[in-house]
Amino acid sequence: MYNCPYCGKDCVNEAAVNIYLNMVEKFFKYQNKESKITFERYPTVGEVGECKETGGRIYLCPYCKKPFKAYYEKDKVTITCPNCNETLCIPATNRTFC
Ligand SMILES: [Zn+2]
Ligand SMILES: [Zn+2]
Repeated sequence: MYNCPYCGKDCVNEAAVNIYLNMVEKFFKYQNKESKITFERYPTVGEVGECKETGGRIYLCPYCKKPFKAYYEKDKVTITCPNCNETLCIPATNRTFC
């Protein structure tokens, strides 16, 4: 159903996708687009597995529901979906503070 953004195979963990999409649905219900708090304004990107061939992390966008290659920008807690350009928060565990 989902193709790995690295190798095109079935590396995406579909169980994780389902859990994530359920969670993010609740987020959208209470989303506060005017909030100054990043995590109330933007949904957190989904972590839906690792590529079996490259070991790269796979993220899922809650807007277009497409997996993409995980990345982060230095000193930023948000990233932009490469497919639909929506703003997304990075999961807390992957954030780095310098
Ligand atoms: Zn893969
Ligand atoms: Zn997207």
